[in-house]
Amino acid sequence: MTILSEIIEYNKEFVNERKFEEYATTKFPDKKIVILTCMDTRLTELLPKAMNLKNGDAKIIKSAGAIVTHPFGSVMRSILIALYELGADEVYIIGHHDCGMSSIDTEQIIGKMVERGVDRSLFKTLRYSGVNMKDWLRGFNDVTESVKSSVDQVRNHPLMDRKVPVHGLVAHPDTGRLDIIVNGYDSIDEN
Ligand SMILES: [Zn+2]
Repeated sequence: MTILSEIIEYNKEFVNERKFEEYATTKFPDKKIVILTCMDTRLTELLPKAMNLKNGDAKIIKSAGAIVTHPFGSVMRSILIALYELGADEVYIIGHHDCGMSSIDTEQIIGKMVERGVDRSLFKTLRYSGVNMKDWLRGFNDVTESVKSSVDQVRNHPLMDRKVPVHGLVAHPDTGRLDIIVNGYDSIDEN
């Protein structure tokens, strides 16, 4: 049995037995927050539980390393849509210790791509068209610094509402403990 067929088989049972009922909610976040965090598998259930969030409480955006890669990329767009369209009032950037995006070796990733059949000359073409693979794939060395820089990037985005607090936190992937790196209430524009 493939993973896909396993999923589809379970899904039929889930729907037929109306297991979805306990998750009923709307597209508007009840706690009016939008979270950007990492795709790390250890955080999938742990982080919402550790924050006392249930289905419907928060908009949760995930990216490798909880990094905002581009001011006009899809992460930033999602944050802006959550704020302007879906009723979120606060932003939480939550990185974590032992992240797969820390100290990433971009040369090694490119090597693996080539090994799996990507044409090496493509990287030259990409460079000519303005895509620097090393910059694009790069993670971070220090999660605290990374969270701070993502907070700055969101807070200072030209399309941001200056009254929206942008918090920065670091989670422990085993215990769910959260440490505040940036308290967004300290630097909002009250006017
Ligand atoms: Zn991570």
